[in-house]
Amino acid sequence: MKIVTIVGARPQFIKAAPVSRAFSRQSGIVECILHTGQHYDANMSGVFFEELSIPAPAHHLGIGGLSHGANTGRTIEAIETVLQDEKPDWVLVYGDTNSTLAGAIAAAKLHIPIAHVEAGLRSFNMRMPEEVNRRLTDHCSSLLFTPCKQAGVNLQNEGIAGNNVLNVGDVMYDAVLMFADMVERRESQLEIFNLERNNYVLATIHRQENTDHEDRMIAIMEGLGASPYPVVLPLHPRTRATMTTMNLQLPHNIRVVDPLGYLQMIDLERNAALIVTDSGGVQKEAYFHRVPCITLRDETEWTELVELGWNQLASPSRDDLRAIITAGGTTGRNDVLPYGDGTAADHIARAMAQH
Ligand code: UDP
Repeated sequence: MKIVTIVGARPQFIKAAPVSRAFSRQSGIVECILHTGQHYDANMSGVFFEELSIPAPAHHLGIGGLSHGANTGRTIEAIETVLQDEKPDWVLVYGDTNSTLAGAIAAAKLHIPIAHVEAGLRSFNMRMPEEVNRRLTDHCSSLLFTPCKQAGVNLQNEGIAGNNVLNVGDVMYDAVLMFADMVERRESQLEIFNLERNNYVLATIHRQENTDHEDRMIAIMEGLGASPYPVVLPLHPRTRATMTTMNLQLPHNIRVVDPLGYLQMIDLERNAALIVTDSGGVQKEAYFHRVPCITLRDETEWTELVELGWNQLASPSRDDLRAIITAGGTTGRNDVLPYGDGTAADHIARAMAQH
């Protein structure tokens, strides 16, 4: 059975790492990776393939930048050509990016079944490009792999239910467990960054709903500036570009660094006193390491984390980020494990081999 896996953005490389490894162990599966080029810098793409031993892409479309419509449209067209040539039995897509949607549309039109990893997540905010991408992808997928119970409930509410919806757990949890030893064996990032364990804040900001709005960006910088801790801010290229355009002044405790490799990032996450982010993946990784997290958004798809008490939502438009970040976040319950047992990738490989 041949699977064409479509990736293009940083979180998809990380999600693909455990799944590709599970495919290589599952007899009868041949995987062919297609990289759309949505993220193309060495530190947003290449480093993940190298560090995480992801098989090299067989196809690289090189389609980065552009407006949402132009990017998605060109990517659909280019993926269609590859699929006509490769004639796979399945197309596998991850998450909620333009690459996800483009892969799903190209496959659906060619009547190739689609498997969607991280199906069923909802923010219920249709102004987010990610929400549009994930909803449309779910509605044309044949196999839907959900990371948690709530995702299955969301799908059911939209009329998607049956034995093609499988709650396998979260592949990002698999990744954290799979690479834990490698993180341990490497030189400590605390020494490299001259930080003390439990004595700094790790922050990331990249979501359009923040980076496109100067008032929200100012509130975020003021909030981080109020922290009694040093703040390490690995800066996404889009955030760097908008901060330069806005000429934002950085408080003295914020240290901006280039985007980090996954192993570096995990090391800094697990030792932080607090994580402040608008990233979906980083919210969960904070919880996997039981580090309090403040999410700089008006809503989250990962509602379990808020319910368990490990994640606190803070709106950069409405809330006083200075007070919330200074308070340092909250710890929560540990008696429920909402994202599976770290074997999501094996479940996915087995299910795909069986279908
Ligand atoms: N990440 C990384 N280096 C960084 C920032 C994030 O390796 O400098 C990883 C992070 O550990 C997580 C993933 O990227 O696994 C999250 O991706 P991102 O925040 O870009 O997207 P989202 O999860 O919001 O879709």
